[in-house]
Amino acid sequence: MIKRLPNHIINQIAAGEVVERPASVIKELVENSIDAKATSIEIKIVDGGKSLISIRDNGIGISKDDLPLAIERHATSKLPEEDLFNINTFGFRGEALASISSIARIRIKSKKSDSENAYELKHENGVSEINLAVLNVGTIIEVTDLFYTTPARLKFLKSTNTESDACYNVFVNIALAYPSIAFKYVEDGRDKISLRSTSSLGERAKDLFGEEFAQNTKYIEKDSISGFIGVPNYNRATSSHQRFFINGRCIKDRQLSSIVKNAYNDVIPAGRYPVCVLFIDVPNEMIDVNVHPAKTEVRFRDIHNVTSSIYSFIKNNLHEGLSQQASSATARMGLNFSRISNAAVAIETPVVRDINIPRPVTASLNAYGSIMSIKSVNTNCIIPDLCHDIDEEPTSFFGKAIAQVDNAYIVSEKNGELLIIDQHAICERMLLEKLLNKEAIESQQLLIPSVITLEKSLVEIVTENIEFLERLGFIIERMSPETIAIRGIPAILGECDADALCRDVIDELSHCGTACAFENKIRMVYATMACHRSIRAGKSMTIVEMNALLEEAANTPNIAQCCHGRPSYVVLSSNDLKKIFER
Ligand code: ADP
Ligand code: MG
Repeated sequence: MIKRLPNHIINQIAAGEVVERPASVIKELVENSIDAKATSIEIKIVDGGKSLISIRDNGIGISKDDLPLAIERHATSKLPEEDLFNINTFGFRGEALASISSIARIRIKSKKSDSENAYELKHENGVSEINLAVLNVGTIIEVTDLFYTTPARLKFLKSTNTESDACYNVFVNIALAYPSIAFKYVEDGRDKISLRSTSSLGERAKDLFGEEFAQNTKYIEKDSISGFIGVPNYNRATSSHQRFFINGRCIKDRQLSSIVKNAYNDVIPAGRYPVCVLFIDVPNEMIDVNVHPAKTEVRFRDIHNVTSSIYSFIKNNLHEGLSQQASSATARMGLNFSRISNAAVAIETPVVRDINIPRPVTASLNAYGSIMSIKSVNTNCIIPDLCHDIDEEPTSFFGKAIAQVDNAYIVSEKNGELLIIDQHAICERMLLEKLLNKEAIESQQLLIPSVITLEKSLVEIVTENIEFLERLGFIIERMSPETIAIRGIPAILGECDADALCRDVIDELSHCGTACAFENKIRMVYATMACHRSIRAGKSMTIVEMNALLEEAANTPNIAQCCHGRPSYVVLSSNDLKKIFER
């Protein structure tokens, strides 16, 4: 026998799609407030939203007659004017409040500006009642005991902390998209953040993410894309610091994340993620937002168009200086100011805990005596005082070299800032960029060909790539299933250990696999080559030589990171220096 499902079951099923967790309730309710033209919204949560979520707004309100309709399924005041492909409100399905009220207790208190009274609708266990209430114009919606009607779903919720984080993250996404709306966020009775209304996205981002975000990202607008992109060194362990908004709606999209990753490909270490907040405007008819009940995914009519704009948007900005800039967080993390007095290496600062920490900086600076002992430790080192007498034109980008430490680091000064530059890393990057600019790589013949023994599988890889390698300056021949002869290597490398270089290149190729894009394969081999031949690394240099090197480095793209994406220099601002000395 076929039976119709009762309404409350239908709603609970729908709720499964719309309300996955407390954060989904926040998203739906705040979006309703925005649709209601609120200019000020207050969000309160208790226990990660499991016991209470309350949203208060100063929007247009709901009339007494509409209150019961608000929680009815498929009842909406936002019927799309034209069609489903031209939607300008967040809501349009009339589903959220019906779903929420089927799985939680809900109270909606509201007053319209033209109504004398405020009214409250209370709904639990399928029963509603409406009473007079006291309230200024606007709406308060209180959702308590989420999933009390569906205990099985309750069990799927994560820890209170995780749910709290998810709630806050949803809030952040909405607050970013609406800088002109003032927000207040209260968690377990404590004010977490208050955001004033502002006309500028930059101000809003700074209020939300702090000074560090502002220092390490750049705001850019071009055509239909605007937003913040991070300097490459300011990268993170997960992609959760990448936010994408399509026509003001925050969405998740793998293709957008992967195009961002591609754009940063050669400046960020494998496994790290760039930071970005991107707003993309697309004509409504080019997207379908009705793919996912919570509307967190959209379908694009022409995704390629969108991804290629994002790609060139980021690439251009990286080239125009962003990838020359060091992250201000790097040095601070290396120094770990909060615990500098015991010179501990532990990195526990919660806000920035997953920022990339370059090994060289951490090692040299944590024992920060090394900076102060420049004069005594290294006999090759030039004494800082004397440097100032040398009448040498300083490079502007890296300032003026004042010392070399351990034959590995150049210390320079620039407008009261102290720069520490990893010689090896900048040389590596300079060579890589040179190689990438070359049309053809010339080869130099080895006087005596070198015969090396390899595993069979590696010899096969060489055989498959013989022509490819020849284009890059390697002349290699297969001698037997387990031996190859190296007859030539790229001339640009000058004198270097041909055997070790070729072994590394072949190793890299074996990791690469057949799916690897040609361009990436070239880049990878070049990076390996650059690593083998960083001309002046480990060499002692005079101030004049150092300044010449810095000058050349300053004109090199992507100079803030080595071939593997690690930071190549750090900047200690005068504020940072003051902190070190507890001034
Ligand atoms: P939708 O947003 O898709 O219309 P909802 O279930 O989220 O569906 O909301 C149902 C209706 O309740 C809305 O169309 C709107 O008329 C009304 N409503 C909900 N929240 C508010 C609010 N904060 N202020 C004014 N009206 C609201
Ligand atoms: Mg809605």
